[in-house]
Amino acid sequence: MLKIEHLGIAVKELAVSVPLFEQLLNTPCYKTETVASEGVNTAFFLTGDAKVELLEATKEDSPISKFIGKKGEGIHHIAFEVENIEAEMKRLSALGFELLNETPKNGADNKLVCFLHPKTTNGVLIELCQERK
Ligand code: ZN
Repeated sequence: MLKIEHLGIAVKELAVSVPLFEQLLNTPCYKTETVASEGVNTAFFLTGDAKVELLEATKEDSPISKFIGKKGEGIHHIAFEVENIEAEMKRLSALGFELLNETPKNGADNKLVCFLHPKTTNGVLIELCQERK
C-alpha cells in the first residue's frame, strides 16, 4: 500500500459538519460529490498529503445511516492508495481477508475502490483505492 489516501468520517449532516471541519482544519472543502450507488454525499478536505472525507447518508438504508445508527458519528473507514487494485484484492483475498466487493467499483473522487470487511481487519473498515485512469 502506498499511503493513507484519506480518512472517512460519518456525519449526520454535511451542512453542519463541513463548516465545522473548515474551521477545524483551517482549509476550505474543495469538493463535494454524491455517490448514488452507495447512498452518500461526500465532502473532501486536503490536509497535507492526505484527505479527510466526510460522508452523509442520502437514504435510510445507506451504509452510513446504518453505521451512525449503531455507532454514532465518527471515523468510518481508512483508505489506502494502491498501485494496482486488482492485484491487491487478489493478494488480500488469498490471505483470508474478506472483500466486500468482488470487482473494483467506482467511488468518489475519481477512484476505483474496494472495501474489506471489518470482521477480518480488527474492526476497522478498510478501503483500497486507485486513481481511475
Ligand atoms: Zn473513502
